[in-house]
Amino acid sequence: MASPIDLHCHSIVSDGTLSPTQLVEHAAARGVRVLALTDHDDLGGLNEAAEAARAHDIAFINGVEISVTWHQRTIHIVGLKITPTHAPLAQGLDAIRAGRHTRAEKIAAELDAVGIHDSLAGAYRHAQRSIISRSHFARFLVETGHAKDVASVFKKYLVKGKPGYQEHHWVGLEEAVNWITGSGGVAVLAHPGRYDLGRTNMATLLGEFRAVGGTAIEVVTSSHTPEQYSHFAQLAHQFGFKASLGSDYHGPGHTYMDMGRLPNLPANCEPVWQGWAEVEGVR
Ligand code: AMP
Ligand code: MN
Ligand code: MN
Ligand code: MN
Repeated sequence: MASPIDLHCHSIVSDGTLSPTQLVEHAAARGVRVLALTDHDDLGGLNEAAEAARAHDIAFINGVEISVTWHQRTIHIVGLKITPTHAPLAQGLDAIRAGRHTRAEKIAAELDAVGIHDSLAGAYRHAQRSIISRSHFARFLVETGHAKDVASVFKKYLVKGKPGYQEHHWVGLEEAVNWITGSGGVAVLAHPGRYDLGRTNMATLLGEFRAVGGTAIEVVTSSHTPEQYSHFAQLAHQFGFKASLGSDYHGPGHTYMDMGRLPNLPANCEPVWQGWAEVEGVR
């Protein structure tokens, strides 16, 4: 049976395609009863989503997905139950968004050098309410016929070794976790299976994340295979993490899975939402 809980998704405020209201309507239609909106590096959709959730009898959780640099790699930390007005969090995210703009200019210059022109304006056309991200460049590249879909873009462009790739320095792990926990939230390592870390590096990451105040890791996410659900449930247990669950939905037609399709957490997991008043009575 699918889980009625979804603690990871994106609206048009980051790189999703639905407005916060449309996203909540979609979640309701797909049987979601507890929803966290976790836009990349931006809190601008939370009020609208919370209001829509009230109208649909969905328990809403304030969330965010922060882009972090850890030992030269980009990883994502989800914050749940954050307080959007917490100044270090709000100002820290402001700085990340400014960095995204600078990176976008460099990406556009690189694409220009391989004959793909006007991509900065083209990407921003897809990012009207939102942060600028590689997803917006990807949509521009599809629109202009440089790739057949977004998934193909991320094979030919914007990734290491390909045109439009930019090494970028995001915020450090400890700082991001402090923004989240300082605002009263819990820090969750997003989709650990996506980082292509060997056993040793994964153990180092989990150890450091725990040491700086991380609470949970995503076990069930559309980025993981069922084998990875078991693997990361085991690692959560071993390292003393709670477990989270979320679709990473970005809107219809995007490569990530739809809402309302993920299974429940494996039985040996302690859910990150244990004890949350919002989740009482939902099953
Ligand atoms: P950014 O944070 O600007 O580097 O953009 C990262 C975003 O690009 C992710 O949040 C995904 O939504 C999207 N993305 C990255 N890799 C892929 C991929 N292989 N297929 C589809 N979307 C991707
Ligand atoms: Mn995204
Ligand atoms: Mn992510
Ligand atoms: Mn995400």
